[in-house]
Amino acid sequence: MLGIVHPPLAPPVVTGLRAALPEGTVLTDPDVVGGYRFDRSNAPDAGWPLAVVRAADVADVVTTMRWASAHRIPVVPRGAGTSLAGGSLACDGCVVLSTERMRAITVDPAAGVAVAQPGALNAEVKAAASAAGLWYPPDPSSFEICSIGGNVATNAGGACCVKYGVTTDYVLGLEVVLADGRLLELGGRTVKDVAGYDLKRLFVGSEGTLGIVTEVTLRLRPAPPAAITMVAGFSDVGAAGRAVAAIAASSRPAALELMDQVSVRAVEDRIHMGLDTDCGALLLGRSDAGSEEIEAMVAHCRAEGATETYWTEDEDEGEQFMAARRMAIPAVERLGTVLIEDVGVPIPQVAALVEGVAALSAQHRTVIATVGHAGDGNFHPLVVFDRDDPDAVKRAGSAFGAVMDLAQSLGGTITGEHGVGTLKRPWLMTQLGEDVLGIQRQIKALFDPLGILNPGKAL
Ligand SMILES: Cc1cc2nc3c(=O)[nH]c(=O)nc-3n(C[C@H](O)[C@H](O)[C@H](O)COP(=O)(O)OP(=O)(O)OC[C@H]3O[C@@H](n4cnc5c(N)ncnc54)[C@H](O)[C@@H]3O)c2cc1C
Repeated sequence: MLGIVHPPLAPPVVTGLRAALPEGTVLTDPDVVGGYRFDRSNAPDAGWPLAVVRAADVADVVTTMRWASAHRIPVVPRGAGTSLAGGSLACDGCVVLSTERMRAITVDPAAGVAVAQPGALNAEVKAAASAAGLWYPPDPSSFEICSIGGNVATNAGGACCVKYGVTTDYVLGLEVVLADGRLLELGGRTVKDVAGYDLKRLFVGSEGTLGIVTEVTLRLRPAPPAAITMVAGFSDVGAAGRAVAAIAASSRPAALELMDQVSVRAVEDRIHMGLDTDCGALLLGRSDAGSEEIEAMVAHCRAEGATETYWTEDEDEGEQFMAARRMAIPAVERLGTVLIEDVGVPIPQVAALVEGVAALSAQHRTVIATVGHAGDGNFHPLVVFDRDDPDAVKRAGSAFGAVMDLAQSLGGTITGEHGVGTLKRPWLMTQLGEDVLGIQRQIKALFDPLGILNPGKAL
């Protein structure tokens, strides 16, 4: 139990913060503050913040951090609150620093960059790039509802990342406010830059524990050619996993996503688009390199026993399949409470992982729906349970741990893109080892000696 039952009254110290910031920036109404306690991780509880700061610009962030350092108040940075790892859960007595009002985006087509404030949604960055005839590739399934600052803080991935790379591959520069209010400029607009240690990469994926990202300079690409979309049905999930390994060994698809039977059925129940609910798994593949690549993907799927294959050059139809895949998490959430995994394994181990997860589901008598960015070896087994049934809660908890143990035993990772947050901390020591974790904690102490930035998260 993290929280106290009733929100504490804002103490006098908050008065100083309120006086230092423009009117309306600091919120303490419990009904409003209550809306900033949780994220999308389905965590059962969260702390009560003293206040929420809705920063309008970098000056508000600097002021907040100076005040927080002076009074040793924890600060939880928050973008859109779509973390699936408990990264943006509030803790008792903290200030939630929300970037939702910092939304400006400018595009410089000549330099091929976008400069965005952290609260801009990923979809807004994509739209601004597209209006200038360019493309910002990273596409988390949550792209319409998550912020670019959150994407940087988690090094978010997505479907097209198998070919085009994850968030860090697009970050050229960052403006960051440290715990004590100092402002750092890291990197810039140059494509190549090896002056000193690459601190901006350290901040990417640091989950709000090292500083607050207040501006991001992103590299853009020319728009990709139109994509062809392939759908292959398999009688069992292991065969789909073997097809993934065969495809990845010989090509670099523009997307390669897997949905197992539970997730296909959950999505079909919700959107009725005629997906084959009898198949054991579906693979969705995309190619923007032409029909030869898609034909090779289809051939690999058939060689691994695909029961059905289909491909379409119709962009809208292809997008409908991808939208169905993106729908998986909300659709499975209708089956019960969900603990969302994010494991990753080397590509040759994909079949062993998905088969192993199916076996764990049976062993723990717990429904697990598996979806994932299969071409990256990154999977989201969704552990479903009834939170009012203590035995089911216990079984789901052990299944959740067993999936991470399985990934680690296959040479993989406990998190490929969602981050450690609060949910995965117990597994971090076995993932990193004592020396690496110790060095990471020293780095944290260097940037945030008082330990006020997102305490209890990541490390
Ligand atoms: C349906 C669904 C599908 C998803 N699919 C994907 C997917 O395909 N790929 C993927 O990678 N993720 C996915 N996610 C997870 C989530 O959307 C990402 O982790 C996203 O990057 C979080 O962005 P956010 O703005 O919501 O961040 P928040 O949840 O607000 O914060 C996430 C973390 O970043 C920190 N943070 C936020 N803003 C800042 C800042 N300005 N400075 C410093 N730290 C900051 C927070 O403290 C926290 O630790 C999905 C989530 C949902 C609900």
